[in-house]
Amino acid sequence: MRHFAVVGSGPAGFYTAEALEKAYGDQARIDIIDRYPVPYGLIRFGVAPDHQSLKAVSKRYDKVAESPAVDFIGNVCIGRDLSVSELLELYDAVILATGAPKDRKLGIPGEDMPGVIGSAEFVGWYNGHPDFADLDPPLNGTHAAVIGNGNVALDCARILSKNRHEFEGSDIVGHALDALDSSAIRTVTILGRRGPHQIAMTPKELGEFGHLEEAVPVVDMADFPPVEADQTLEPGLRKSVSLLRGFAELDANKAKRIVFDFFAKPVAIEGDGKVERIIVERTVLDEKGSARGTGETYDIPASLIVSAIGYSTQPIDDVPFDGGKFVNDTGRIGDRLFAVGWARRGPTGTIGTNRPDGYEVADQVAAEMTPGSSSDRSGAAGLKQLLQSRGIMPTDYDDWRKIEETETGRARPGSPREKFVRVEDWLRTLGR
Ligand SMILES: Cc1cc2nc3c(=O)[nH]c(=O)nc-3n(C[C@H](O)[C@H](O)[C@H](O)COP(=O)(O)OP(=O)(O)OC[C@H]3O[C@@H](n4cnc5c(N)ncnc54)[C@H](O)[C@@H]3O)c2cc1C
Repeated sequence: MRHFAVVGSGPAGFYTAEALEKAYGDQARIDIIDRYPVPYGLIRFGVAPDHQSLKAVSKRYDKVAESPAVDFIGNVCIGRDLSVSELLELYDAVILATGAPKDRKLGIPGEDMPGVIGSAEFVGWYNGHPDFADLDPPLNGTHAAVIGNGNVALDCARILSKNRHEFEGSDIVGHALDALDSSAIRTVTILGRRGPHQIAMTPKELGEFGHLEEAVPVVDMADFPPVEADQTLEPGLRKSVSLLRGFAELDANKAKRIVFDFFAKPVAIEGDGKVERIIVERTVLDEKGSARGTGETYDIPASLIVSAIGYSTQPIDDVPFDGGKFVNDTGRIGDRLFAVGWARRGPTGTIGTNRPDGYEVADQVAAEMTPGSSSDRSGAAGLKQLLQSRGIMPTDYDDWRKIEETETGRARPGSPREKFVRVEDWLRTLGR
């Protein structure tokens, strides 16, 4: 028998557990450990609440969790409750699938001013992440800015622009829905340092902007190269750019506007005690395709700024870290220690991009510890003993299901469930 610990229950953790289970069958016990009593990482706390079909990928992970070889151990934070070295004593291999939950900094003056929020915080707030339940983003001004030209920026701008009715069927948390419903924001400016040909926005997400009930997307055709130049783009990007071009034809007579401001590099954030405006420098592309400032600046009013410019992994003691992710060679960090998903590659790709990671690492583990071989490590039994000696009460699969059932039972009209947003609420549900 072999014992494997997968730390993190997001997509990367579940694909790894799935791959290990396929490789070892009943010859291994696989424990998926997470800091929260409910799994799925960014599927629960990141993917937009109005994208329920994407969140449904978790059904596939449910099957993995139900496998007799796999256990879910929640409410245990590695690096805080227990070290990686201790886990390596207990398990034959440890796979870190802890994601990249920290917002990258903008690195400009004023970014710590009240009203400037990272997208991990903002997205966590509307998705019911316990760390951001009290965020209370300022929605009382008429202008907001979102910095970034990827899908997360689109998520943030869309959520800021929808009305209550458009959240029907979503699992947005009640506190965010109520706050957004009374929001005064009428203009959201999306800032990108480069141009329409350099966006990282996908057609599905952009396409939704043409169908918002109260908001219209606005583009300036002067930002676009001649249409023939689109032919050089790969098909997905070409479609995105053609959707952007199409926004110029839309009826602009709506109450809210989402303005795409390209070639616009934020250089400072200003305000009297709280954010009031962002100073932006006009850019051009240099010969390498990077944004070069022109020296021309202008102000954009904003009482809320969301920066969606990427994420980094939370370091863990004794694990080599390069400032953004764990140092690894095709997933291997060191002896019997691996990384997968965003903790391995950084914050790029889709949910499915994490699958090959998990399979590749499972192959490496299986090459070293042939299925059928065994060790005398104690796995979950030893882990639970150690946790008990520290007064830490892990949760299990049944606890997770109980929380989900309770949430579903508390559903608001038009929503599949009302998520708990505080760790105490989760634990209270379990009678703790
Ligand atoms: C706002 C946003 C929207 C997105 N929308 C989409 C989308 O629509 N479609 C799409 O394909 N992709 C989307 N993605 C990308 C997708 O969510 C990621 O590719 C994927 O979640 C990364 O998986 P992961 O397992 O590496 O990390 P995560 O999903 O972040 O999972 C990490 C897990 O590790 C746990 N953890 C962290 N640290 C510890 C610790 N020390 N101890 C124990 N547990 C720990 C966390 O609680 C979490 O459960 C989105 C990402 C973001 C940020």
